[in-house]
Amino acid sequence: MDIDDITDGTLRNYVDGEWTPIDGDDGADVVNPATGETLGHVPFTPPGSVADVVSAGDAAFETWRNRAIEDRIQPLFRLKSLLEEHQEDIARVLVTEHGKNLNEARGELRRGIENVEVACGAPRLMQDGFLENAAPEIDEMAVRRPLGTFAAITPFNFPGMIPLWFLPYAVATGNSFVLKPSEQDPLTAQYLFHLIDEAGFPDGVVNLVHGGPDTVNALLENEDLAGASFVGSTPVARHVYETAARTGMRVQAQGGAKNYVVVSDSADLEYAAAKTVSSSFACGGERCLANDIAVVVGDAYEPFVEAVLDVVDDQVVGDGLDPDTDIGALISPGHAERVADLIDAGVEDGNELLRDGRGVTVDGYEEGTFIGPTVFGEVDTDSRIAQEEIFGPVLGIARADDFDEAVRKLNGTDFGNAASLFTARGGEAREFRNRADVGNIGVNVGTAAPMAFFHFGGRKDSFFGDLHAQAEDVVRFYTDETVYIERWPDV
Ligand code: NAD
Repeated sequence: MDIDDITDGTLRNYVDGEWTPIDGDDGADVVNPATGETLGHVPFTPPGSVADVVSAGDAAFETWRNRAIEDRIQPLFRLKSLLEEHQEDIARVLVTEHGKNLNEARGELRRGIENVEVACGAPRLMQDGFLENAAPEIDEMAVRRPLGTFAAITPFNFPGMIPLWFLPYAVATGNSFVLKPSEQDPLTAQYLFHLIDEAGFPDGVVNLVHGGPDTVNALLENEDLAGASFVGSTPVARHVYETAARTGMRVQAQGGAKNYVVVSDSADLEYAAAKTVSSSFACGGERCLANDIAVVVGDAYEPFVEAVLDVVDDQVVGDGLDPDTDIGALISPGHAERVADLIDAGVEDGNELLRDGRGVTVDGYEEGTFIGPTVFGEVDTDSRIAQEEIFGPVLGIARADDFDEAVRKLNGTDFGNAASLFTARGGEAREFRNRADVGNIGVNVGTAAPMAFFHFGGRKDSFFGDLHAQAEDVVRFYTDETVYIERWPDV
């Protein structure tokens, strides 16, 4: 299917098993960032209509929660097959509305499918404890029970994968689910829901609601909603966490990031450079796991910078659908402007501009929101480009006298999403694991992205809550642990 098959130009919600027109005055155009072409219009669901979506979920929940778990996972097996079958077409839609390159879109969808696979293990993931003779003649067991209807509010940068960090686990554990995807690239979710429709979930179990901040706030203020999962920027994550908690629902909110990579003087510098460039610039740097500040120890600085520039100079900027493209368009003109402003700030703060991606143009794509790979050297880690999330193709390289100073620098931001170390010394790796104050740690790995059978970490201003996305953590988030205590006296 292509875009014309999934929408007639105006997007609809999917509620209670039906494609439903959205009766709202607000909305946004969905634009191909490489060409500037308008792909469709997404109306925003008015706050007053949100309660109906939650009610549809709650009505379906009454039956769904008591279906045998083997029955509940069958639509997920079908969804996995459908996702595999449509992967290439979904990837093209994703590239067209997001800008990243086709291989990155394929990789993202693979990561999403892996979450569906892991959720199919719910019969094992949901099992809990049983203890005979917990007290004289008393047996105790703990049971995980679903809670109702959950919502997930997701960001623009992984429109195919991030909804699947949540959706399959929520429904496999017996809950109903509402997805509110990013209004910047909602077509991928629209496609996903065509497959959900085909996969055979009972009406009302899985729902799609388009919208902007007002729609989100109506969900968070809905007292019937059992909980909300959020992924996006830190200020909104904090707002979601506070608002949902005030309403009294469960909440997990993943925020923004500023990830550092430490390059030890023992590291294989060409390998470290290649992996760092890939981590920084893949998806145009629009990744919460992008390592965009490298802190290099001692004499390794000069050869590392040289190796980085060698790789950077081979990067091709262009339309994500072009197989030669490494770095695609950024999501919007507004975002590209913000990235360019931060590059300006990097220069003003006295950092050394080694490669400048501002003003890059791509022949035939004059309306595209492109920024080329940008590299700063001699970075002051107190400056804005080393402290603020840029979310663009910008890498900063800083010096440290020793490993200890490098680790202190990486821990000196407000964020705690990810960090990597390149080293040949086991002792450094061990110390790094212990001291790096982040949730996802890579050693000789450029991008510390956990597989679906591990949770996705994050702390400090990168995460608000306690149970994370993916795997066992999210199963706990979506279930309440009830304890049964039994004694059977003789009668
Ligand atoms: P965003 O915070 O602007 O939007 C995320 C979602 O929140 C969207 O669905 C949007 O409609 C909604 N939203 C936006 N403003 C709102 C408001 N004022 N009130 C209520 N809802 C609101 O984020 P984005 O620009 O779409 O995504 C990029 C951000 O997401 C980056 O900061 C990135 O680091 C972060 N991110 C984090 C992770 C992680 O795992 N920690 C993963 C991916 C992206």
